[in-house]
Amino acid sequence: MKKLMVGNWKMNKNGKEAQQFTEEFNSKFTDKRDAWIASQALFVKLIINSGIKAGIQNCSEHVNGAYTGEVSPRSFKEMGGHFVILGHSERRQYFGETSKGLNAKIRTALAEGLEVIYCVGETLAEREAGQTLSLIEDQLHQGLNDQSLANATNLIVAYEPVWAIGTGKTASPAQAQEVHAHIRNVLKAKFPAFGDKTRILYGGSVNPANVEELLAQKDIDGGLVGGASLKPADFLALCGDR
Ligand code: PGA
Repeated sequence: MKKLMVGNWKMNKNGKEAQQFTEEFNSKFTDKRDAWIASQALFVKLIINSGIKAGIQNCSEHVNGAYTGEVSPRSFKEMGGHFVILGHSERRQYFGETSKGLNAKIRTALAEGLEVIYCVGETLAEREAGQTLSLIEDQLHQGLNDQSLANATNLIVAYEPVWAIGTGKTASPAQAQEVHAHIRNVLKAKFPAFGDKTRILYGGSVNPANVEELLAQKDIDGGLVGGASLKPADFLALCGDR
């Protein structure tokens, strides 16, 4: 399976910086790994026009209607958008998103033909209490609750330990692999037709120095990257173009 590196720019970069990034990145990118970018919704057209597969970092569970301030997954797909990140820990923490509540967004986005990166992960307190695997299993069952999930082959799962996001603390390759193997087993049981092929990304302080060791793990199919996706040279290195 080709490895997938996804840049999550969060609310960073202005339009000019986004433009400069895409130009420099595209001049050196050789397609060894797939490379996607989730920018602020305001800049997605710019990313799409550059030829990079573009994503947003949240979307509505509805496709249109009176939902002030929301972004429609249908409109995003129509304009050439490719994917949406759902359930990022910052959305869970600051905007009260829950796995149960995310289920509707996931189903709508998949039905509209977007690829969905569904994020799961434990806090440090949950890890220390020995709850990591059961908690992640619950997040998977609640978020992906519905055996008839439309287009579920477009589903990607990202394991992002909350204690490793933006902290410089990465899960060790063995710690990450343990959780990825568990996610793989849950997905295989839940989706026998394709669960063994669902891409599982690792996220949390991935950088050019630790990426190869992480990607060498059996069940790590790529990375979801915040800080190290902001500079073209770093993101190129993550994509195998050093
Ligand atoms: P980080 O962020 O790479 O800066 O730790 C990852 C993420 O939030 O997706």
